[in-house]
Amino acid sequence: MVRQFQRFGIDITREPILVYPTLHYQNGGVAIQPDASTGVPGLYVAGEAAGGIHGRNRLMGNSLLDVCVFGRRAGVSAAAYAQEAAPGDLTVDHLRAWHVALDAAGAADEAARSPVLLPDYTRRQRDAGAER
Ligand SMILES: Cc1cc2nc3c(=O)[nH]c(=O)nc-3n(C[C@H](O)[C@H](O)[C@H](O)COP(=O)(O)OP(=O)(O)OC[C@H]3O[C@@H](n4cnc5c(N)ncnc54)[C@H](O)[C@@H]3O)c2cc1C
Repeated sequence: MVRQFQRFGIDITREPILVYPTLHYQNGGVAIQPDASTGVPGLYVAGEAAGGIHGRNRLMGNSLLDVCVFGRRAGVSAAAYAQEAAPGDLTVDHLRAWHVALDAAGAADEAARSPVLLPDYTRRQRDAGAER
């Protein structure tokens, strides 16, 4: 850590640094078959969005192996599926229906947000530091 911060001109033996917890790995997701296929035709999943590969806990370092192996399998499977697929007319009607449902539930502003992993004061602290 000392060396990594030195690369950016920060001496953490003298300067306090912001430390906070973050999500390291999301264990659990869409169930996949060995070819990365799912119960939804044409949907192939790899990486953290897939579930069950690592059991109840992931061994250190195994995520990147998982991403390489199942990422490749998902790509190969999706390419093979695309050769045969006849999707018909593609529309975004399902998204329109979703937005109508969100409006009706009074949740239009809240539900469409991605998870916020970093605390919202992170940027403010860094900006404040830059001003000093
Ligand atoms: C601090 C930390 C250290 C780690 N160290 C290790 C390690 O040493 N070894 C190891 O094996 N694993 C490690 N991991 C875990 C590993 O990095 C992840 O499990 C892996 O990168 C997940 O890859 P992924 O492709 O599934 O997801 P991601 O790398 O999260 O990729 C998902 C991508 O989808 C994009 N995206 C999200 N929503 C949308 C959207 N709506 N439209 C389009 N794009 C979207 C995101 O921007 C992102 O680029 C670490 C994780 C963390 C957080």
